[in-house]
Amino acid sequence: MIRPLLAASFTVAVVAGCSSAESATPSAAPDATTVVASHYPVQFLVDSIGGDAVDVETLTAPGAEPHDLELTPQQVAQVQDAAAVFYIGGFQPAVDDAVAEASGTSVDLSEGLPLIEAEHSDEAEHSDEHADEADHEHGATDPHVWLDPVLMGQMATTVADTLSTSDPDNAATFEANAKALQEQLAGLDADWSAGTANCEIPTMVVSHEAFGYLAAQYGFEQKGIAGLSPETEPSAQAIADLATFVQDNGVTTVYTETLVDPAVAQTVASEAGVTTATLDPLEGPPATGDYISAMQENLAAVQEGQGCS
Ligand SMILES: [Zn+2]
Repeated sequence: MIRPLLAASFTVAVVAGCSSAESATPSAAPDATTVVASHYPVQFLVDSIGGDAVDVETLTAPGAEPHDLELTPQQVAQVQDAAAVFYIGGFQPAVDDAVAEASGTSVDLSEGLPLIEAEHSDEAEHSDEHADEADHEHGATDPHVWLDPVLMGQMATTVADTLSTSDPDNAATFEANAKALQEQLAGLDADWSAGTANCEIPTMVVSHEAFGYLAAQYGFEQKGIAGLSPETEPSAQAIADLATFVQDNGVTTVYTETLVDPAVAQTVASEAGVTTATLDPLEGPPATGDYISAMQENLAAVQEGQGCS
């Protein structure tokens, strides 16, 4: 009589233990490593390279403005408990703060890359509280490294190396996936190089200064309506000055972007008598397709907007 009772209560305990463990990590495959990505381009890298062996949680929800990201207490815990956290230092202050407390591996993918010093244009140089805070939090470099396919290729190596260290059994898979992705990125870079070799208009007027690395790689000059962070809104005088700048520099297209209200860019364009087109800074997931296809769409927009032949 005693044995069956003991066996029954033991079974109940085991079942209860299992179900509570499952509810703590609902989406993780049994043997997948859970890692955290800060925002879409980082998620794209980790997903592409990690494949089925890695379960990626992304901190920035689709449609959310990523610069101003705030983390829930649950996300802070996720960052602190993850096997690895991949992010871009100086882009999202809340993520920088959370990784400072993380117990696992945290990898700033911009580390070791040739970073561009943050230039403060007149429009961005508001002396309001937010700008002061942004200067303090962001440091002195431009974080938008993912918009250069060449730098994405270098970050892919860092992701593969990190995943291989934490999960050596799958190292060969990670390396093969990284190589395949790097071939795609090299193709994208070749398309951009060829597609922008002959352009009439060197100056790109963009919604916020997300395109510094892209512009540097393919021979353009970026002029931002807002600074490195899209919330810095220009004054009426700054808008008038931008419209004059557009006309003086032979710019025919002002670029709006996906996650930011296009009203200011449209005002600049209409005051200058030019058109608008959309460039996706890929701070969130593209509406369709992935990083590669969205960058091909960006190329088509730039070729049209900058008069490339
Ligand atoms: Zn940005």
